[in-house]
Amino acid sequence: MNSPIIISIDKEKCKGCQLCILFCPSKNLVLSDDLNKKGIKYAKVKNASSCTGCGFCFLVCPDCCIEIIEK
Ligand code: SF4
Ligand code: SF4
Repeated sequence: MNSPIIISIDKEKCKGCQLCILFCPSKNLVLSDDLNKKGIKYAKVKNASSCTGCGFCFLVCPDCCIEIIEK
């Protein structure tokens, strides 16, 4: 499915709680192998083409790290 949006995650704000990963119905988000400046593994997009644009990740992030960008 071709999503009408792009997800952008601020890796330096991310605290690695994984809520977005758990709630993504497309299993489109994963934890990074790298660490951010806080020494935390951050959430990142695995495969942008599998994103349906549902916005659940944006809604559940407690630290407002996720931005929805319309294509
Ligand atoms: S918008 Fe929906 S499908 Fe896309 S990454 Fe977020 S939760 Fe997953
Ligand atoms: S919900 Fe927010 S803080 Fe938690 S892992 Fe996802 S982007 Fe990071």
